Amino acid sequence: MEDHIEKVAQMIMEAKKVAVFTGAGVSTESGISDFRSPDGIWSRYDPEDFTIQRFVSDKDARKRNWQFRKELVSADYKPNPAHFAVAELEKLGKLSCVITQNIDGLHHAAGNSEEKIVELHGTIKYAKCLECDDRLLLVDVLKRIEDGEEDPHCKKCDGLLKAATISFGEAMPIDEMNRSEQCSKACDLFIVIGSSLVVFPAANMPVLAKRAGASLVIINYTSTDMDSMADVVIHEKAGIAMNAIIDKIKQNLS
Ligand code: NAD
Repeated sequence: MEDHIEKVAQMIMEAKKVAVFTGAGVSTESGISDFRSPDGIWSRYDPEDFTIQRFVSDKDARKRNWQFRKELVSADYKPNPAHFAVAELEKLGKLSCVITQNIDGLHHAAGNSEEKIVELHGTIKYAKCLECDDRLLLVDVLKRIEDGEEDPHCKKCDGLLKAATISFGEAMPIDEMNRSEQCSKACDLFIVIGSSLVVFPAANMPVLAKRAGASLVIINYTSTDMDSMADVVIHEKAGIAMNAIIDKIKQNLS
């Protein structure tokens, strides 16, 4: 692995615009399960509950969904060394964007600035009305549930309320998709951290970057279908690999 760490550190130092793309695997070291690992969320929840169709048609699925959100929000997860390493890339003046599929807000918590972060699949911080698009703080909706509302609806238009995250089958947010595509095409180095790269259209970003001429690095604990397309692949925990890469860059700079 040492050679690969050295190589990626070198690539970052030579790059002008680094785009980072993160998935659930960047947050497992913070204690948040991913979807597809053996002990992942899909070992405890029915994947169908994460579809928009199930959410709008089944009141019990909505209850389970709010319960899942409550667990996520009340656990007070903290960023781990991989998130801090991405924040360090911004401090070093290398980061053009961090495109995240995650909804946990941990790139913000680690210190990346708002304008660098693209939350492609939404955020757990807010809830939204599926009819009028009104936005509310998720904690306020959870409080209403705690106070006895079983199936919260919008107070303005009576539409269904839902966490402001993108469920399977739901349309992607246009602004975030545009920003992600532009940043992927404009970077000279694209680094994937902790994603199985099977959820599309998000997983198309490394393909766009590579086609536009960027180098591609994949840091993921297990292999992905895109490994063969990458210039460097590191099968290691994100925190360990990213820490080592940042240390190497700092050594080289000192
Ligand atoms: P995924 O579950 O499909 O894949 C996660 C990948 O990360 C796996 O290949 C796994 O081997 C790898 N991994 C796990 N722990 C790792 C670690 N410590 N270091 C390096 N790699 C590690 O997740 P995905 O590709 O992000 O796609 C699934 C969807 O899951 C996304 O749309 C995302 O919105 C959603 N999700 C988000 C969160 C979160 O916000 N933290 C949690 C679960 C799922």
